[in-house]
Amino acid sequence: MAEGILDVVIVGGGPAGLTAGIYLSRARMKSVLVEKQGPGGSPALSERIENYPGFPEGISGFELVDRMRRQAENFGLEINAYNPLNSIKDEDGVKILEMDEGELRALGVIIATGMRPAPLGVPGEEEFLGKGVSFCATCDGAFFKDGTVAVIGGGNSAAEEALFLTRFAKKVIIVHRRDRLRAGKILQERVLAHPNIEVKWNKVVKEVLGKGTVSGLVLAGPEGGGEEEIKVDGVFLYVGNIPNTEPLKETVELDGNGFIVTDSDLKTSVDGIYAAGDVRSGAIRQVVVAVGEGARAAMAAQAYVDNIKGTAYI
Ligand code: NAP
Repeated sequence: MAEGILDVVIVGGGPAGLTAGIYLSRARMKSVLVEKQGPGGSPALSERIENYPGFPEGISGFELVDRMRRQAENFGLEINAYNPLNSIKDEDGVKILEMDEGELRALGVIIATGMRPAPLGVPGEEEFLGKGVSFCATCDGAFFKDGTVAVIGGGNSAAEEALFLTRFAKKVIIVHRRDRLRAGKILQERVLAHPNIEVKWNKVVKEVLGKGTVSGLVLAGPEGGGEEEIKVDGVFLYVGNIPNTEPLKETVELDGNGFIVTDSDLKTSVDGIYAAGDVRSGAIRQVVVAVGEGARAAMAAQAYVDNIKGTAYI
């Protein structure tokens, strides 16, 4: 791992972090990107991304982020994968990042740790995780060939993944707690027109049923009542997200939901620490926005570091 005091450490290897990496390594800043898993972030699990400009036929999420990774590495970015961050402290302007594998010191830090899917918190969910309960249609959809699966939630993720699951399952049941989807209009149109997708409106999951693997769900109205049991072989959960900010709780200001508060330069409450992408409070959660924020945070961090080192352009 890199030694001495780095210019910038980027934490998180999704589109925001990788873009920051491209900009910083091209600017010849001494930078390292650390990532608790492999690089890619949540878009890597998206089967197809249709709204990233420049790809009129769409592009697989994995390929898009893999291209970003290669681009960053071509400019010399060091990527330190499978090395989770535990904490960051600031000692006289030097940021000390405690990682599972040792420590990194840097003048600037960009947090681009994104978010992860939220659990439902109902009986059976944990018990059947990996045995029919999943957060990832791209990873697990093929296990349900010719089966019936439920998708919980009404946002873009639920709609996209429900459509994807129709490739395998003979029937996909979307369970949504309201009477209309939150997903964008084009996805709504596709979902509602799909012959193999049924939507259960105004229903929430009370329990995941099964013996060894999932066999069904108990549904009810959001205020209780109207209980029913449906038979499903699998259930995919898309009921929102939790920010990956646990290691930062003591370091930077977070909003009430745990997302990082920044100013218009993407600076957090600590000088020299910036945040970009989905982890930022108020972010528009789109790959194209994360990419833009990664570039912006990189340029702000570069200016900050140049200023400290006295290498800023006059
Ligand atoms: P989301 O937009 O927060 O949607 C979560 C859905 O789950 C909502 O429909 C919500 O219902 C429902 N929900 C929340 N808690 C629930 C509970 N306890 N029980 C039942 N239902 C519950 O999350 P997301 O779909 O993962 O998307 C996250 C962000 O990424 C969004 O900003 C989204 O636009 C973006 N995204 C974009 C794309 C794209 O552009 N192609 C793809 C994926 C994600 P309500 O509607 O009633 O609140």
